[in-house]
Amino acid sequence: MSNNSQPEHEGRRLRRRDMIALTLNSVAVLLILGLTGAMNIWVALTAIAAISAMSVIYFLLISSTASEHEAAPPDAVAKPGSLFDMSPAHEMLESLPFPVMLVGPGGRIESANPSAHEFLGLGSESGLLSGSLRQPKVLEAVSGVLRGEAGRLVEYSTFAPIESHVRVHVIPLKVRETGSFPWRALLVLADETASKRAERMRGDFLANASHELRTPLASLAGFIETLKGHAREDIEARDRFLTIMQDQTERMRRLINDLLSLSRIEMDEHVPPSGEADLTAMTQDTIDSLAPQAAAKAISVDFEGDATAKVIGERDQLFEIAQNLIENAIKYSSNGTRIVCDVHGDIGREDIDRLTHSLGPQAGRLTIANPALPAGRRFAMLRVRDAGKGIERRHLPRLSERFYRVDGQKSGPREGTGLGLAIVKHIVSRHRGGFFVESLPGEGTIFSVCIPNTPAAAPTAQT
Ligand code: ADP
Repeated sequence: MSNNSQPEHEGRRLRRRDMIALTLNSVAVLLILGLTGAMNIWVALTAIAAISAMSVIYFLLISSTASEHEAAPPDAVAKPGSLFDMSPAHEMLESLPFPVMLVGPGGRIESANPSAHEFLGLGSESGLLSGSLRQPKVLEAVSGVLRGEAGRLVEYSTFAPIESHVRVHVIPLKVRETGSFPWRALLVLADETASKRAERMRGDFLANASHELRTPLASLAGFIETLKGHAREDIEARDRFLTIMQDQTERMRRLINDLLSLSRIEMDEHVPPSGEADLTAMTQDTIDSLAPQAAAKAISVDFEGDATAKVIGERDQLFEIAQNLIENAIKYSSNGTRIVCDVHGDIGREDIDRLTHSLGPQAGRLTIANPALPAGRRFAMLRVRDAGKGIERRHLPRLSERFYRVDGQKSGPREGTGLGLAIVKHIVSRHRGGFFVESLPGEGTIFSVCIPNTPAAAPTAQT
């Protein structure tokens, strides 16, 4: 407001000065005429008429200039960039969490909010739009809008150096009624990279799931054909084929169970678990239930650790963790080796670090899920250590991806689904716990899971 009243006040002062000068000049002319004796009635009348005509012309000129000023007085209209400098519009645009900017004649960025600065890496001098956003479709839409064309929605994608998918709303803004460059382009950018990626992941997931199911199904169809044809009378071949068919059916059943389990876990991942379970008892039960599989490979599965380890969690889901980790250890270990499952009932942050760094500096290690670590939080931890051939460091980051299997790793007739570790990761995240892997090729692998323990298990509650 103060900015606008300043020029108005200045204008009034100048007009008053002009009027005084005009009056003094007229009086001076009349005096000179009178003193030199040239004054008579006709001269006086002519002089007064001339002075009046000059005054009328002057005031007509003054009022037309004033109305021009009044038609476009505020800075906001004269200088469109300053639209962003006006409160509260300014504050609103500044605080928007997505990039917004105003582009003026010649494609010059006149204003940009902090999100736009960050998104496009603009310096303090924003410069030309084409210098920071080399997207022909966007630049074309902006040029159109600056010429007075309708606004447009433009989408663009980049794949290097990083993948990004962006929607740009190019909106025309008329900032002057007349004049040579009345139009500005308001650009509102929406970063859609995360949603596009999620969409693609969903697509990939469906494609992978159908592929995984199609393979055993095709094999079953093939064997049925053979059994109906030339193997019909071959009893030996028929028995062999039936065994393979049983394995394939079993694999499809496991795959469907894992897919259902994963979708169930994902659905309630945001709901914190409320039950209570004993990790020690659960681990021992799992070892017992997998005893036939271990015995088939002459593998011993030993339990070590605390007698109880009470955690906050859902029993069935925690059982699934132990089941997946111990079953993997059996599947990926050679015959006659030893697996050790140890449970620690009450540990803190430093213990977690120590227990997940047991294989020495040569080992590859990865935190697959970070535990939530508010001050004073205590955990229970299950570690499953095998003496298998180990996992190379380069595979670790992809282990918990759905359907990911380490190349060339055979797990026998109970071939895996590639979903087990993804399931473990989701359950652990739901329980606000941590999931870690350490592996040294030739030595073996340790998968560790920590889950917040119940207040009763914490030392403060025990004393
Ligand atoms: P799968 O059903 O194939 O076992 P997982 O998600 O449980 O699927 O495991 C993913 C991959 O990680 C496995 O295919 C295997 O290559 C590797 N892996 C998992 N556990 C171990 C282990 N204890 N030792 C070696 N490799 C393992």
